[in-house]
Amino acid sequence: MKNYSSHIGIVGGGIAGLTVGCALRLQGINTIVFERADEVSEYGAGISISPNALRPLQKLGIKDDFVDRSFVPEKAVMHYQGKEIKRLDTEVVTSSRQKLIEVIHQRYAGLGGEILFEHECESLDESSCEITFTNNEIYKVSHILVCDGIKSSIRQNYFPASGVPAYSGYSAWRGIGLSEIKDIQFHFGPGTHIVNYPIDHEGRTSFVGVVKTNEATEDSWKIKGSKEVFLEDFKFYDEEIFSMVSSSEVIYKWGVYIRPSLNSMCSKNITLLGDAAHPMVPFLGQGGCMAIEDAYTFAILSGELDCDFNKVQPLYEKIRLHRNNRIQSASMLQGKLNHIKNPIAAFTRNLLMSHTPLLAMRTNKIWNYNVDEEISKALS
Ligand SMILES: Cc1cc2nc3c(=O)[nH]c(=O)nc-3n(C[C@H](O)[C@H](O)[C@H](O)COP(=O)(O)OP(=O)(O)OC[C@H]3O[C@@H](n4cnc5c(N)ncnc54)[C@H](O)[C@@H]3O)c2cc1C
Repeated sequence: MKNYSSHIGIVGGGIAGLTVGCALRLQGINTIVFERADEVSEYGAGISISPNALRPLQKLGIKDDFVDRSFVPEKAVMHYQGKEIKRLDTEVVTSSRQKLIEVIHQRYAGLGGEILFEHECESLDESSCEITFTNNEIYKVSHILVCDGIKSSIRQNYFPASGVPAYSGYSAWRGIGLSEIKDIQFHFGPGTHIVNYPIDHEGRTSFVGVVKTNEATEDSWKIKGSKEVFLEDFKFYDEEIFSMVSSSEVIYKWGVYIRPSLNSMCSKNITLLGDAAHPMVPFLGQGGCMAIEDAYTFAILSGELDCDFNKVQPLYEKIRLHRNNRIQSASMLQGKLNHIKNPIAAFTRNLLMSHTPLLAMRTNKIWNYNVDEEISKALS
């Protein structure tokens, strides 16, 4: 057994794991990330990061590098059946997951953070704080942060009432092609919607097309789909929208999976962060943002409370549980709104979107969340 009891052990080197690693290192806390993959790699899917998560990234010294390698669109434009229905200012940064992971990983390495690849967690002992890996190594750490994503087997074992991943009723197509668009474009149609945005200054453009269907697709970023089937799923739309699809080398289709909301994100010596705690349908673009908020909150509390995890855990839960659960259910509701089939209901939705400030109000409520203020309130 390797004794790392002066380190926090982080299982999973995705957005949550690497961000919490950076934030803890900045507090002077020792960390070790265990990642099952053999390198930090991500499939080239798009991701948008909104101001609520950009603020913590700024504090962690990651934002500027991220923005430099990404795109900052000025407007989000909504369309229904080819017609523009709303144009809004936007403050999100659009990029690829690959670049986001790269910049966080580089920052983590720059802060002296340790990461071990090809370390797949097999089991934990929450009393002794030991983690056993499939390569038979065992590490003893001071606390275990569970950042192993939606399929988290640790969640399965230590939060047994918390349900297994289930198909959400939505399947998504995604790819990265070339186009000249400069804004975020939403296109709504019966039972489907599409989101396109630039991810850099070279014209690379992310497209995601979502279909509501009972035909479950596997939850995997690696399943290649055919462009012909994609075009069939989106035959109601003007083909111009898909100009970037023809230049995309590959196009992937995957099922969107969810797990029920939790009543608690903590157990003895174990704390859940990111998708392991609260996977959500991606219709508000907040899964990664919540992972960043979780990571920052846990690390600042750990610094402020001298790594007394008996004090950190209840405050972390107090700050994060309600916010995560609320965004999880709001994302689900957004899915229903995006995929309305009934023409009268769609007309009403479009009217509300175009003639009321509801959309901006809802977005601002999510984006204006200030994680530092919430931490200060909880500590006072
Ligand atoms: C179509 C789609 C679009 C999205 N768009 C957005 C968006 O625009 N904005 C946004 O904020 N979010 C978006 N999201 C959500 C976002 O991608 C996730 O919420 C985010 O990746 C969660 O990060 P995570 O670190 O918790 O989990 P993951 O990114 O899944 O990382 C988990 C890590 O743990 C590792 N791991 C797993 N099991 C083990 C183990 N046993 N041992 C060791 N390591 C392990 C994995 O290899 C992986 O590296 C989108 C999601 C989808 C599906």
